[in-house]
Amino acid sequence: MITDDLTSDNGHLMIGGVDSVDLAKKYGTPLYVFDVSQIRNQIRKFKSAFEEVGLKYQVSYASKAFAVKAIYQVMKQEDVHIDVVSGGELHTALAAGFPSEKISFHGNNKTFDELVMAVQNHVGVIMLDNFHEIELLSRILNTDHEKINVMLRLTPGISAHTHKYDQTGQTDSKFGFDVESGQAKEAMKQVLDDPNMNLLGIHAHIGSQIFGTQGFVMLAKKMIAISKDLQKEFNYWPEVINLGGGFGISYNADDDPITANEFIKQIADELKQNCDDVPEIWIEPGRSIVGPAGYTLYEIGSRKDIPNLTPYVSVDGGMGDNIRPALYQAKYEAVVANKMDQSIVETAHIAGKYCESGDIMIDQQPLPKTDPGDILAVLDTGAYGYSMAMNYNRNPRPAVVFVEDGQDKLVVKRETYQDLTSLDLDY
Ligand SMILES: *Cc1c(COP(=O)(O)O)cnc(C)c1O
Repeated sequence: MITDDLTSDNGHLMIGGVDSVDLAKKYGTPLYVFDVSQIRNQIRKFKSAFEEVGLKYQVSYASKAFAVKAIYQVMKQEDVHIDVVSGGELHTALAAGFPSEKISFHGNNKTFDELVMAVQNHVGVIMLDNFHEIELLSRILNTDHEKINVMLRLTPGISAHTHKYDQTGQTDSKFGFDVESGQAKEAMKQVLDDPNMNLLGIHAHIGSQIFGTQGFVMLAKKMIAISKDLQKEFNYWPEVINLGGGFGISYNADDDPITANEFIKQIADELKQNCDDVPEIWIEPGRSIVGPAGYTLYEIGSRKDIPNLTPYVSVDGGMGDNIRPALYQAKYEAVVANKMDQSIVETAHIAGKYCESGDIMIDQQPLPKTDPGDILAVLDTGAYGYSMAMNYNRNPRPAVVFVEDGQDKLVVKRETYQDLTSLDLDY
């Protein structure tokens, strides 16, 4: 979101104490830039909010939002847990030296091979999602003579007010064991009966880009009610209740996200009111940790003016490096990084370079007078940008740079044309 916090030096956008226009020159465009101190600060806010309310807790970064070695290393430095959802994310985290006991493995269709990989690498928790998986895991543990922590992912019947593709907690969902129909109880029975599985607790994730606290407070209440039910039936009390992620961020002025403090305080109140022995509370923020810290720098190229219509200003990237506008009608804001001190003169569509009419990065963007070669910085692109990037139209994926304390460091190289054909074979 455009705020007064955006710092500018000589009319240039500064990121983490570094001139963004220099970064564009040094590394080329499009370029993802992350302000690492913003990432650290957000993690520390979550932690201190829990410490203030005196709950036992764990913050687990949902790494699908941005999953490269360097970010896993930052998470290791910040001493948090991480979620992974695939063998590829698990491989990346392990390759980064991230401790396996702090990894939770999620997903609604983990393959046999992925489960074997998780077991052999001794991940901290496997988040069981369905009966097929309980069976697979049970077989693997039995053959490999291994034991492992598991949690049950539940669909508690709560739907968050967010985009349809971002809702996951309602009963009609592909994720988790349904509570209402008794699936959750059956799953719990199976897990408790398996001597190789240690049931750490229960999990639910109700969606993404959620703004109010209401959904989370309802969820906390529901999870306690479910726990009490299970206690009656199985004499089992969860060590951990995992409330998932989904905390919204401000992509533009209409978005009004909850602060970590507000949300955690309300949850803590709800939990304390409803039970004497509050389990350890885990949360899984993804977007809110890396989203606002990310910027994408593009070079402005062509322009199309149509009489009486909004002009199109095109950049050298688009849906290949940020699919969210095309996929979710996501809204972004941008600034012209080399003209921060110039006044706005028009509103334009910011178009990408991909051969799709839907490749519009920003529908209505106020701009100063722009020229080819200007640097456009799209804000808040840290989450689900690089991690969803692709090679449509055979465009190489951009490089990623981390900046902190006035220093910049390349953490992912730009893909080359050679990389693009490296898997292709002759015929
Ligand atoms: C995606 C996901 C998250 C993170 O969601 P954000 O909106 O990025 O905070 C957390 N938990 C689970 C299980 C997820 O699938």
